Amino acid sequence: MKYRNRRLDLQNGVFTMLLRRTRTRRTLRIAFATIGTFVLLAFAPAPNLTTSTTTAAQMQSNISTEKQTEATAASKRIAIVIDDFGNGMTGTAEMMKLPFPFTVAVMPFMPTTKADAETAHKLGHDVIVHMPMEPNRGKKEWLGPGAITTDLTDAEIRKRVEAAIDNVPFAVGMNNHMGSKVTADERVMRIVLQVCKERGLFFLDSRTTFKTVIPKVAAELEVPLVSNDVFLDDVYSVAHISKQIGILRKHLQEHEKCIAIGHVGPSGKKTAAVLLSSTPSLRENAVIVKLSELVRRTSDQQILP
Ligand SMILES: [Zn+2]
Repeated sequence: MKYRNRRLDLQNGVFTMLLRRTRTRRTLRIAFATIGTFVLLAFAPAPNLTTSTTTAAQMQSNISTEKQTEATAASKRIAIVIDDFGNGMTGTAEMMKLPFPFTVAVMPFMPTTKADAETAHKLGHDVIVHMPMEPNRGKKEWLGPGAITTDLTDAEIRKRVEAAIDNVPFAVGMNNHMGSKVTADERVMRIVLQVCKERGLFFLDSRTTFKTVIPKVAAELEVPLVSNDVFLDDVYSVAHISKQIGILRKHLQEHEKCIAIGHVGPSGKKTAAVLLSSTPSLRENAVIVKLSELVRRTSDQQILP
């Protein structure tokens, strides 16, 4: 336990350092840009003699403020992940039509697994395997075919994870469907993440339990990992989903990125509608990207000296 905490502290320390460095660089960039602007202003001939100095300075200050806001917005990232594709669920068509790139999590071995993965890929979205995993509560039958349960042997777990990846075309990553029991089990997750590593897949921890062992095991195996920050539609109402979009926005004020998970199914049409109407305001604060882009940026940061 102590070892884990120390490691987390260390990771946090490195992260803060990187963040500080990025911030310093950004501040320097802004400072140079401002100095450059003043040099240009000093030496450039006045474009219009009737323009007073105050107005010109004011204009410049407005432009730099705008640029600063733009730079902040450009450095923030939102990744939307929609779970439970593959079974012709309600809201599938509405989600696919959303006007921004997102990540489509498709369950394996289902009636529309292949069709949904192919449509998503054609539209330029990311496809990931939505791997069914045993929860603490609920019946195994709810999980669907090929699910990972804690009573399986090592060999059977490996076989099922490999088969699921083979069954979902264009998959670049994996996340868990349910899984509060499995994601807290180190033996099982070590095999799942090992297969992801071998197949070049990143893992998204949906964080269905605070006891998740995924961060620890993924770090040991060096599997690229991202984690969910906000569930959009755990309650199926427009009011709740809109409230969650507010939480996403708040998260983004304090962090550089936010990952949010929504679902097709009972809430599908409502979630799609709220996401559609929120798109312009979300874009004011950040860039909406696919998960693979976030993973790439995160690993780029990690290899900085
Ligand atoms: Zn799911």
